[in-house]
Amino acid sequence: MSAQCPACALHQIVPVEIYAREDGTWHQLLGKGTRPASTVTIDTCPVCFGAWFDPGELDLIGDGEVDKLLREPAPTRTSERVCPRGHGPMSEVLCPQVISSPVERCDTCYGLWLDGDERRRLAAASTREGQGSRREQLARRGVIWAVQLLTHLPVEVENPARGTPWAVYTLLAGYLLFFLAEVQGIVYYRDWAIVAGAVVRETSSVHTLFTHQFLHGSWVHLLGNAYFIYIFGDNIEHLFGRLRFALLVIGGGLVGGLIHVFLTRATATPMVGASGAIAAVMAAYLWSFPKAKLFQTIPFLLIQVKIPAWVYLVIWLALQFLMAFFTDTFEMAWFSHIGGFSFGLAVTPLVLRGRRRRVAKTVAVPAPAYARP
Ligand SMILES: [Zn+2]
Ligand SMILES: [Zn+2]
Repeated sequence: MSAQCPACALHQIVPVEIYAREDGTWHQLLGKGTRPASTVTIDTCPVCFGAWFDPGELDLIGDGEVDKLLREPAPTRTSERVCPRGHGPMSEVLCPQVISSPVERCDTCYGLWLDGDERRRLAAASTREGQGSRREQLARRGVIWAVQLLTHLPVEVENPARGTPWAVYTLLAGYLLFFLAEVQGIVYYRDWAIVAGAVVRETSSVHTLFTHQFLHGSWVHLLGNAYFIYIFGDNIEHLFGRLRFALLVIGGGLVGGLIHVFLTRATATPMVGASGAIAAVMAAYLWSFPKAKLFQTIPFLLIQVKIPAWVYLVIWLALQFLMAFFTDTFEMAWFSHIGGFSFGLAVTPLVLRGRRRRVAKTVAVPAPAYARP
């Protein structure tokens, strides 16, 4: 199937092959090794993690009769999303014995669309399994596949549409090199840092609006910023493309620097760091993945965690506060965060709109008729 994702329209739907292990859990089939006897292919969106199920596919994965249950109810309303098989707008149906939230169904081909968080809710609903009546238990058996799919989240963890985030790696290597060069005395802090008072007075220090974002004042400062670029940057790089991502980062740093200079023009305290650039990436992330609960591997610790985007944001803000307290030689970079964040908020919708158009051109099924902001 070649179609634009009916939910986010930011990517085409990608087939993902999954297979059942002996313990009954489903995993994504990756690369080499012996091929399992039977596999099931489901169509998913790598950006919003929604999934399309053709009739029968749900029952193939589980062992219940969810398909039949979801086929019965009359539509409550017409959805604004279109069937990826090209049958026009889907319907919203309610099927409380299977899932508490409405599900999108095509009333022509009876395919089903489940959002990423709907799949999660399916899992949450079935944790009380065994507490309900026997009839309910039977109905829930059919959605156990969802729990299995969710426990391992093969689609989210190993995303087939993602490559290596080279722009992020280049940026991190650059930050490290410049920091080492500073430690070695090759690059001078005073030449690269923004001093708001100086930028206002002398044209000779205008370049610092650009250079300050590549320099960091300490290992803590460097590692803190590297962490956030790594966490959020890879998703945004894949969504935006490398060049646009690079422009977002550099633009965020630049706008952050400008705002900093305008708002603190009398100060003589130097300011360095990629915080403005990171703020732009975070704004792009929150705009692009508002409901994201992504598995992320924490660098160095290599622990995989699942945290909602807003939690990241709070941690990030807290870290900025800490940074401002413990690195007292630097001007608190709040204004540069505001600048970078605003820049990210302003350009992301434009980039996303462009991306939706490009994806629509590459797939056979026409794009949704509605226009998302
Ligand atoms: Zn999507
Ligand atoms: Zn259809």
